[in-house]
Amino acid sequence: MAYTIVTETCTVCGSCESECPNKAISHKGRIYSIDPEKCKECEGDYDAPQCGEVCPSGSCIPLAA
Ligand code: SF4
Ligand code: SF4
Repeated sequence: MAYTIVTETCTVCGSCESECPNKAISHKGRIYSIDPEKCKECEGDYDAPQCGEVCPSGSCIPLAA
């Protein structure tokens, strides 16, 4: 399971990119996305997903369906 970024609600603020311990978040053009192969839900690194912790939107980084 991995987290994903909902582009419709992401404001492209950039806060999440540097917080990921696995460098799973990248910026292409005006879209941020999470590589599902690299996202480990922060397990072993933090108690909570760091991308979701710093995201000011609060709702644009759900678990991928
Ligand atoms: S949940 Fe953790 S590992 Fe996954 S993208 Fe967010 S910060 Fe990176
Ligand atoms: S922190 Fe949230 S709003 Fe900011 S770039 Fe990441 S997903 Fe988008």
